[in-house]
Amino acid sequence: MGVPMDMATLYRSGARFGPRAIRDASGQLRPHHWEADKLEPPFDRLRVVDYGDLDVYPGYIEQSVEHIQAEMKPIFERSVFPVVLGGDHSTTLPALRAAAAVHGTMSLVHFDAHPDFWPPFSPERPIHHGTVFHHAVNEGLIDPASSVQIGIRGSISAGIVNECRAAGFHVITADEFSHQGVRATVEAVQRVASLPVYVSLDIDCVDPGFAPGTGTPEVAGLTSREIVELVRGLRGLPLAAFDVVEVAPAYDSAEITALLAANLVYELLLVLAAQA
Ligand code: MN
Ligand code: MN
Repeated sequence: MGVPMDMATLYRSGARFGPRAIRDASGQLRPHHWEADKLEPPFDRLRVVDYGDLDVYPGYIEQSVEHIQAEMKPIFERSVFPVVLGGDHSTTLPALRAAAAVHGTMSLVHFDAHPDFWPPFSPERPIHHGTVFHHAVNEGLIDPASSVQIGIRGSISAGIVNECRAAGFHVITADEFSHQGVRATVEAVQRVASLPVYVSLDIDCVDPGFAPGTGTPEVAGLTSREIVELVRGLRGLPLAAFDVVEVAPAYDSAEITALLAANLVYELLLVLAAQA
């Protein structure tokens, strides 16, 4: 499902057009896979539907968040696995609330250049796209001690990463990832994420050289190959939901960001098919 909402961005907006760009780019995908000898085509094992886009109310963040949560509630209650195409990262908050109402407190596997753990600027406007996991921890939606944040970097994030660690998050910065590599990172995710797992993938975890189409780019990020391998590394976890957020096609070049996002969704479907 798409959530075409970008009212909660602090810098460049445009992620409201993410869902349609990802759908367009998905036309390049075929029901085969390099690991086809190990994995069946996902659509042989999964019933997958495009649920369309949820309604949002432009200009009204809190009302939109409430509406999205209400729309997602029956999805989780019926044990349907949602793949959510954002939207800015505020998309994740109502999805987490709806998921936690069914699954209880969850593990978060969070790919992002930014920890999105900032408190709100004011109580009157509690939600912007950098507050999501601040609210999620305070509301008990996720357990930081069994959650991982991967790809954190840049001067914006430098001031708060210690607070994430103090709250209990297992943080693997982009620098640490670069030094330890995919295998050790997958091992850390598999070790830490013990509760039902919500996977939230902010496309800006990837380097702007591979994913320029996003609102808050940060240099020196993951490659497209590395994020594909990290998504494959989710196999075996008790997955509850998956989202890809912050794809903003106006800043994209030759659809490379949307194409990557579409492929990451496909890789996630393969993970689900393997454990279906
Ligand atoms: Mn984010
Ligand atoms: Mn980000």
